[in-house]
Amino acid sequence: MKNLSHSGGFTRRQFLKTTGTVMAASGLGFPSIILPRRKEKLGVALVGLGSYSRGRLAPGLQLTEHCELKGIVTGSPHKIPVWQEQYNIPDRNVYSYQTMHEVADNDEIDIIYIVLPTGLHAQYSIIGAEAGKHVWCEKPMAMDAAECRAMIDAAVKNRVQLAIGYRMQHEPNTRTIIRYGQEQTYGAITEIRSGAGYRGSHPTGNWRRNPDLGGGALYDMGVYPINAIRYASGLEAVAVRGRQWSERQDLYAFVDEFSEFEVEFPGGVKAYGETAFGKSSNYLDITATEGWYRLRPFQSYTGVQGETSDGTILPPDTHHIQARQMDMDALAIKENRPPVAPGEDGLADVEIIEAVQESSRRGQEWIRF
Ligand code: NAD
Repeated sequence: MKNLSHSGGFTRRQFLKTTGTVMAASGLGFPSIILPRRKEKLGVALVGLGSYSRGRLAPGLQLTEHCELKGIVTGSPHKIPVWQEQYNIPDRNVYSYQTMHEVADNDEIDIIYIVLPTGLHAQYSIIGAEAGKHVWCEKPMAMDAAECRAMIDAAVKNRVQLAIGYRMQHEPNTRTIIRYGQEQTYGAITEIRSGAGYRGSHPTGNWRRNPDLGGGALYDMGVYPINAIRYASGLEAVAVRGRQWSERQDLYAFVDEFSEFEVEFPGGVKAYGETAFGKSSNYLDITATEGWYRLRPFQSYTGVQGETSDGTILPPDTHHIQARQMDMDALAIKENRPPVAPGEDGLADVEIIEAVQESSRRGQEWIRF
């Protein structure tokens, strides 16, 4: 049998000295312990096993190439055996909110995905970053700009990535209209209109009715049009005004059932947004100097599609949108480049949310940045 410690007359030690360990480890038969083995799939732990984790993220993680579901963090013991069995999760990868920081010692978990009520995003994102894990955090990023900045600081300090779960920015038709804006395919954008909402009736005790946990339409659904007017225009707001109100006081006495807002961008570009728990809407319409284009729906899990003033049709993509998002974000980690939607993106949206709230309190006064 050929002695693999020799290559072309060199001793192994001479070879390593001449070529370096990287080449040596790349398929010449030396033991793989020379370099730490690169994981094919990064391990994800979902924090919060509510409807989004159960319905979309865990199933999406069965389709991903660059990451996989490896762990869970939950405060509901009855969910543990169900998830362990369904997704083959070993005891050593199951945590409670109190033990979550111990993930620091677990090499199978590379990414912590925060899928909790918005009011808890900052606290648990920071625990994840402090444990040395990359952090993915659901939208909206946090309750206010100060929380967002603390999350960004924690990621920087611990040299981990922080990505916001803005799935639309990974969706192909959305990426096409972002490119239209960048390349001015239909001329310079002059006006954007966007709305996202549904007619709901959240039951008593649901966090979406609780102002301390990030309830209300603006945080929950308004962040879609806010993010969309920014990604479509590629611009940052210079002034914002808005109005928030509730019609069904029995359901939404303490949070907004409806919000509407206007945003001014540099160069006089105007955007108009609306969101609601009391009315359904799902559109992103862009007017430019030489035409128009739109996505309707623009933020659904499936069927996002568009058309343009010159008759171009943007047909729906059939891939699982969350799988696409998580794969792109995992690849960014593997390739050590910034994620598509970093913490700064989430922060800019939360600054607009805060401005809408403040404007509404002040009788729809313009809030300037
Ligand atoms: P949900 O109410 O179904 O689940 C929330 C989970 O958090 C539950 O498992 C609950 O037990 C847990 N939890 C822990 N502490 C809690 C507390 N103090 N109060 C209430 N719940 C607590 O909510 P969801 O729809 O899964 O939303 C979770 C997050 O995901 C939110 O940030 C939401 O905005 C986001 N989300 C994103 C999308 C998207 O398309 N990107 C879709 C749905 C939800």
